[in-house]
Amino acid sequence: MARAWHLMSRPSGMPTPDNFALDDYAPPALGDGMIRVRNAWLSVDPYMRGRMNDVKSYVPPFALGEPMQGGAVGEVIESRAEGFAEGDKVLHMAGWRDEAVIAAGEAQKLPALGVPDQAFLGYLGMPGMTAYFGLLAVAGAKAGDTVFVSAAAGAVGSTVVQIAKAKGMTVIGSAGGADKCGWVAALGADATVDYKSGGPLVRKLTEAAPQGIDVYFDNVGGEHLDAAFAAANPNARFAMCGMIEGYNSGEPMAFRYIMSIIAKRLMLKGFIVTDFMSRMAEFYADMGAMAAAGKLRSEETVHDGLDRQVDAFLGLFSGGNTGKMLVHV
Ligand code: NDP
Repeated sequence: MARAWHLMSRPSGMPTPDNFALDDYAPPALGDGMIRVRNAWLSVDPYMRGRMNDVKSYVPPFALGEPMQGGAVGEVIESRAEGFAEGDKVLHMAGWRDEAVIAAGEAQKLPALGVPDQAFLGYLGMPGMTAYFGLLAVAGAKAGDTVFVSAAAGAVGSTVVQIAKAKGMTVIGSAGGADKCGWVAALGADATVDYKSGGPLVRKLTEAAPQGIDVYFDNVGGEHLDAAFAAANPNARFAMCGMIEGYNSGEPMAFRYIMSIIAKRLMLKGFIVTDFMSRMAEFYADMGAMAAAGKLRSEETVHDGLDRQVDAFLGLFSGGNTGKMLVHV
């Protein structure tokens, strides 16, 4: 029998294991044009927290009592769809479960880029696309810019660091703790900021970036965003990617330096990675070349077994991951 995680109640604040249940479920019958996939790798991502709220957003909320969804990579074990055969490796969105039956149109065969399968949930997948287009298209970052990125030891942030270095930028990354900052430095960051080490973040950032910042890639919001306002050079561009500091907190974010937006003529632009789906070929070509040239390193924090998925998900909010957080089924 297949098993899937179900959302049983909507969390208020930080989710707890009680909000979820791992139960047997019956996948739909394998109709024409459908494939059956044995999932091997499951993604957990911060955006999933938003889907646990019953609010209108860019992606619909998870339905209570139903199997949850998310990025997954697996192997086709049965096919009634043209172009898909047993043994094909595919990327799809029927995650949080060990087996999925989906329409072939909802699956993408893994491109032959010579990387491990799970890379398509990380630096060559949704987080990688977020980093690539957020940095280069949304912020318009270019060689010579000084880039500040928060959550720099995470899936998106660590990819931002490496793309920025590969393209001739100076990079400052912030992360929680000395070990994570050491890893961000090993990825090539010119300076790091340990936001957990005490003292005001704005002082730490201005010391790490005495020349000011031209680009801020925001994954965190709150105090990080405020420090970026303070450190920004005139006409700096902010790619507004995520604000994880606020996902579980009911507290309003306060900004002491927000008026810099006016005096420094800052440009802030929000984006959703799906805005760039039509440019996937460009992403694979450029990132595939960088990977082949040894310019991209990947790190994963892997939880073993479907029963660990909630632990993996909750770990995102306490810094439990270095690089991409994954579940191996
Ligand atoms: P990560 O791999 O970066 O994991 C989350 C990390 O965030 C943790 O490891 C932790 O690192 C850090 N963190 C958690 N809580 C806080 C906090 N209160 N203050 C500061 N840091 C915190 O996740 P992703 O790379 O998948 O996502 C990064 C961001 O990008 C998220 O905000 C996410 O929502 C956003 N995103 C947006 C997309 C879009 O389309 N706009 C698409 C994908 C992601 P540490 O130990 O350093 O604190």
